[in-house]
Amino acid sequence: MRIAVIGAGVVGSLIARELCKYDVEVLLIEKNLDVGWGVTKANSAILHAGYDDPIGSTRARFCSVGNAMFTELSRELDFEIKRIGSYVLAFNDEETAVLHKLLVQGEKNNVPNLTIHDRETILSREPMINPQVKMGLWAPTAGITEPWMVAIAAVENALENGLRLFLNEEVVDFEKREGRIINVITNKQVHRVDVVINAAGLFADEIAKLAGAEYVPLHPRKGQYILLDKKLGNTVRSIIFPTPTEKSKGILVLPTIDGGLLLGPTAEDLPSDRKSDLTTTNEGIQSVKNFALRLVPEIDFSLVKTFAGLRPESPQKDFFIGKSEIVPNFVNAMAMRSPGLTAAPAIAKYIVEEVLQQQMGLKLTTKKDFKPTRKGMKKYAELSLEEWQRAVKENPSAGRMICFCNEVTEAEIVEAIRRGARTLDGVKFRTRAMFGRCQGGFCMSKILKILERELGRDASQIVLKSPNSWVVDGKVRE
Ligand SMILES: Cc1cc2nc3c(=O)[nH]c(=O)nc-3n(C[C@H](O)[C@H](O)[C@H](O)COP(=O)(O)OP(=O)(O)OC[C@H]3O[C@@H](n4cnc5c(N)ncnc54)[C@H](O)[C@@H]3O)c2cc1C
Repeated sequence: MRIAVIGAGVVGSLIARELCKYDVEVLLIEKNLDVGWGVTKANSAILHAGYDDPIGSTRARFCSVGNAMFTELSRELDFEIKRIGSYVLAFNDEETAVLHKLLVQGEKNNVPNLTIHDRETILSREPMINPQVKMGLWAPTAGITEPWMVAIAAVENALENGLRLFLNEEVVDFEKREGRIINVITNKQVHRVDVVINAAGLFADEIAKLAGAEYVPLHPRKGQYILLDKKLGNTVRSIIFPTPTEKSKGILVLPTIDGGLLLGPTAEDLPSDRKSDLTTTNEGIQSVKNFALRLVPEIDFSLVKTFAGLRPESPQKDFFIGKSEIVPNFVNAMAMRSPGLTAAPAIAKYIVEEVLQQQMGLKLTTKKDFKPTRKGMKKYAELSLEEWQRAVKENPSAGRMICFCNEVTEAEIVEAIRRGARTLDGVKFRTRAMFGRCQGGFCMSKILKILERELGRDASQIVLKSPNSWVVDGKVRE
């Protein structure tokens, strides 16, 4: 039995890992040069508690379950999560009424321990919050993570368990026999398959159309962000939301997992032909600033960068998950807008256990030697001085600091390359080098050299993130 998963975002990667628990051949096909570089790369990185999703929606069904699964998953796959909790703030009676509705909705969605706090309690925990605040809905199970690390960790573990990963390979067509897909055709080769799972993010509607299966039309909904310097990471301790509107959860203020401060996102609907438009605008960034200041009136805008992400939004504003009624061996995991990151582990389990095995009747036998754990990368700067000194004696490159902003050593860069990084962004997203204040201004050239040495390639063949994103053109002189 050969099952192909299209798309190595957080959803496809976790589905692929879940499948690797069984005696099946699992193919994960991704058009980018690395995993987790689609929608998964740029979002708010929140493990949502689950009070925000309409009762009875597919989002509500999977959000709080997925949130709870992250505790065990992060232990097994050794990636970071921090359950810092979230506040939804109300500044008047109308907004306070919304908090009460969210509390009831959350309880119906099985979100544990929701409470409404008064101004004194909120300000005692979050002194930087606007003192005009009236009430706040506190959700202790909300947390933060690094979404792309979830995908990377899942794929590393799946590879240990037999996954076949095809990067830089785009699915362009399907071949069918008697209504069933028999071949997935990519721009590089043809893969014979028994089942196809569509987790292609923003492009999942196009993949389903190619397969002749059901789909919901997707359009990108842009979210612009401001990332601020680490010195501001303590501005708030928890995730701060405004009261949501019909349209979105609003502009938030939250710490990032590595100690920075994130503001955003906007919610701008774009036409479906702008699925690659990741530009930021003055207007968007200004609105992020203005709305963030309503929640936290004194923010020092020591800017590290601005960026944008694109939500795969559908008219139904809900996930579209399940087996196709038209193409019997095709399964969709589509329209994964927020809280798709949070819900992803629960969706992966649902697709493998219920959709494939119960609804489609696939007989999957569990693999006896499945290895559930993966060891994350060592972060030398987090060791005690004595431990670090011992590590340097064993491996001198652990003592050579490459990224001073985020304290990443040469040993970590080398390990990232040995684990699969082939590009500068591949190193960046695995190690956090080039992610700090200087955004690679000081360390990028050193990392390029290390990539050159470790991969045995000339620097002119090494790219930032996409096949043509070269950093150097060639030698000025020999
Ligand atoms: C602004 C914003 C904020 C968000 N905030 C949160 C949040 O705080 N919490 C939360 O839970 N969720 C949040 N989300 C939602 C969450 O980010 C997504 O639900 C999740 O990342 C979707 O993952 P995915 O794997 O479905 O898609 P992707 O990560 O896009 O993965 C799909 C992959 O398919 C690949 N692909 C596409 N077409 C092809 C093809 N033809 N051949 C091969 N590969 C292909 C793509 O390259 C991509 O890597 C947010 C989203 C955005 C944009």
